[in-house]
Amino acid sequence: QAVDNGEVWVAFQPKLDVKSNRIMGAEALVRWSHPERGQIGPDDFISVAEKHNRIEKLTAFVLDQAVAAAARINDQGWDFAISANLSVQLLQKPDLLNFVDRILKKHNLSPSKLILEITETGKLDRNGSGIAMMRSLVEHGIRVSIDDYGTGNATLDYLKILPSHEVKIDKQFVADIDSNKDDLILVESTIRMVHSLGRKVVAEGVETQSVLRALARLGCDLVQGYLVGKPMTLPDLMDRISSQDLRVANRK
Ligand code: C2E
Ligand code: CA
Ligand code: CA
Repeated sequence: QAVDNGEVWVAFQPKLDVKSNRIMGAEALVRWSHPERGQIGPDDFISVAEKHNRIEKLTAFVLDQAVAAAARINDQGWDFAISANLSVQLLQKPDLLNFVDRILKKHNLSPSKLILEITETGKLDRNGSGIAMMRSLVEHGIRVSIDDYGTGNATLDYLKILPSHEVKIDKQFVADIDSNKDDLILVESTIRMVHSLGRKVVAEGVETQSVLRALARLGCDLVQGYLVGKPMTLPDLMDRISSQDLRVANRK
């Protein structure tokens, strides 16, 4: 109902490529502006929507907005990939690939510009249809990211068997790597392991320059967090991207 009433919208949080120091993508994060209760965060309604089988409609809305945004940004000549969160339960939906592909075709976006972030991958049965669906998505050219890596009870070998392009290290391990030696060791070894499997590493929850510097030293590929930008509206994101282009042009 909230979707139909126009109370739901999508915020975009930039993802920075560490080497080039440029924004190469963003994550779409759903927002609910409730007419009486004000802003309600996704942590307070996603799990309820999942439990009551309402997550599909919400996901269709977010994906449509996210893919439309990415198509607009790529049309302006920027190389930009959009990330969207996908509840693990939707991997059980036999027509998920068609569902996603219809949205890509509607906005004429290449599947390689869409990254689906999946959390709670530890719940997937290793021979089940969920992992088979991840494989179909990847074969279709869509990118898959393992979200919140390090939390939950995904075992190490899941990393190997799950088809994915990217691993996102959870913010709880990232936030203090400049001061907490144990976290630093965990992040460092994770980056090395993920790279040896041929995948990219994203660190989330980067709030300070010193954490960014530590991640750059460890060879982390992409970062996301308040330091780079809080989740913002699409016009604000587009301003950010075009202002970095101006900066680059001025330097030349
Ligand atoms: P997530 O995928 O781990 O998203 C990152 C969360 O960390 C976001 O919270 C973001 O606002 C927050 N964050 C980003 N940078 C920083 C930082 O530097 N420091 C700190 N402390 N936090 C940071 P948000 O937007 O409240 O989203 C919470 C969760 O809700 C997401 O976690 C994601 O799992 C879920 N979610 C959001 N949108 C969707 C959606 O469309 N579909 C599904 N299935 N889940 C969604
Ligand atoms: Ca995510
Ligand atoms: Ca996370």
